[in-house]
Amino acid sequence: MSKIKIMDELLANKIAAGEVVERCASVVKELVENSIDAKASEIKIELIEAGTKQIKVIDNGNGMDKEDAVLAFGRHATSKIKTEEDLYRIETLGFRGEALASIASVSEIVLKTCNNNVGTLVQINGGKIINISNDEARIGTIMEINNLFYNTPARLKHMKSLYTELASITDYVDKIALSHPEIRFTLTNNNNVILNTDGTNNLLKTINAIYGINITKKMLEIKAEDDDYIINGYVSLPEIQRSSRNTIITLVNNRVVRNSELNRIINDAYHSYKPDNKYPVVVINIEVDPSLVDVNVHPTKMDIKFSKFEELKELIFKTIKNKLKNITLIPQIEIEKEEVINNKPLYKEFKLNFDEIKEDTENYIINEDLSNESQEILTYNYEEKKEKERLPIMYPIGVIHGTYIICQNENGMYLMDQHAAKERINYEICLNKLSNPSDDKIKLLIPLTLEYTNNEYIILSENLDFLNNMNFDIEQFGINSVIVKSHPTWLPVNNEINSIKKVIDLVISKEKNFNLATFRDNLASTMACKMSIKGNEKITLEEMENLINDLRSCDNPFNCPHGRPTIIYYSKADLEKLFKRSGF
Ligand code: ZN
Ligand code: ZN
Repeated sequence: MSKIKIMDELLANKIAAGEVVERCASVVKELVENSIDAKASEIKIELIEAGTKQIKVIDNGNGMDKEDAVLAFGRHATSKIKTEEDLYRIETLGFRGEALASIASVSEIVLKTCNNNVGTLVQINGGKIINISNDEARIGTIMEINNLFYNTPARLKHMKSLYTELASITDYVDKIALSHPEIRFTLTNNNNVILNTDGTNNLLKTINAIYGINITKKMLEIKAEDDDYIINGYVSLPEIQRSSRNTIITLVNNRVVRNSELNRIINDAYHSYKPDNKYPVVVINIEVDPSLVDVNVHPTKMDIKFSKFEELKELIFKTIKNKLKNITLIPQIEIEKEEVINNKPLYKEFKLNFDEIKEDTENYIINEDLSNESQEILTYNYEEKKEKERLPIMYPIGVIHGTYIICQNENGMYLMDQHAAKERINYEICLNKLSNPSDDKIKLLIPLTLEYTNNEYIILSENLDFLNNMNFDIEQFGINSVIVKSHPTWLPVNNEINSIKKVIDLVISKEKNFNLATFRDNLASTMACKMSIKGNEKITLEEMENLINDLRSCDNPFNCPHGRPTIIYYSKADLEKLFKRSGF
């Protein structure tokens, strides 16, 4: 094939470029995936001005000879998709074929590559090859993309702020690093290191490089399998709460995929351990026979469908849930190291872990040198306890601010939020009663008449059976009104009327994907809140002891139904550090 032919194609690609190459991140993605295909064990991504001035990807993979180096920029010049069938087997990197040609048409490229000790240099400007020559021999390939979109001003204008470009590159590199812990990745922008993984095939170390030691210390390892799926990875303690779903990462056969249903299931497994609208940090790899998945590959994303999806969801849900069920989840007050304390004002000395991690996930974390800490995390382990032993034995001393019960044992001091604790206990009782309803009902001395708007009344009328099956006696009563004659026994005593109204409101406001389990759950947490002692309510020492014992027998003693903590912990050692009794 003559060079001219290829150049014509390159020019033609300019038009198509916008479809594949939209952002700096799409260029980085293309180049990094080429490096992975070339079996690189080390990939450096160096950006200048978030990639808008320069994107340089350096790898130690198999380089190209002169002919291949030129052909790589031709249309369909890909070695990746060999057959149609490959598209369905996500062991290959999937889509593409003309991406490099497209990138070449809208930038200035310098390619240095080496194969069998023969180095090649190729320079392309706006799709025109301006130089092909011999180059020094080295291992691997250096691909330098300069001045992206310099010849397509409209596209250039379209680019977002440098910050946004950098954030989306970082997001991509984070995910590819998590899916390839065996590859050493370095990402820099203007010579500042953003990410640095060690390539030792240790997923936890990669998590550490991306999220930092404070989150890494709070990751739990999970492993499970059924006939079709093997899952393994790490899930964070519920106290890690992020504001976006972006930190829930699912891999299939070590490839990042998108499946919002899987993300939802993962978040659901944390229900009532944390607020539902806060998200955990999760990296789960799903191993599956490629014939059981259907992959839809786009230039910018990869959607996936599973056969036997229900089984997979069940496996993931149960595995996470069981993991949380077997460990102690009391957030510990973190006392910073002595040498750090000396340089900081006193009020910064301690903070709650769960407050600390509220930052927006758009804030990518600049990784510090963690070399001495990485040893520590390898031995980090959460002790599994028998269900009812997870809440340690502790002795109440008194209440402060009418709200927090102070307790102690030989290990340290606990603060328990009496409302949150009571709420958890009542929630589990209510949920239990709602799930196993008895036939008993209580007749109201004076039947209750309730009036609703047209709309509400229609919805309510449609659901009268549903309510009456729950042992209410509710009938239509004149225009837009109902009469309540009796109610089930599980309504909170002395709060019956309000509770009846609340139950009906819940039915009227039910959402599209209404289901009985969610309804019961909402109802149980609403009733629990109503039934539970409020702050500033005086309780005796004996009542405190009973409260702790009741809490201990809960399925999840550590959070109220809304996911807030019931109890926090100061270890004795931490207290000694705070009072400078130790640590010198
Ligand atoms: Zn409450
Ligand atoms: Zn609550």
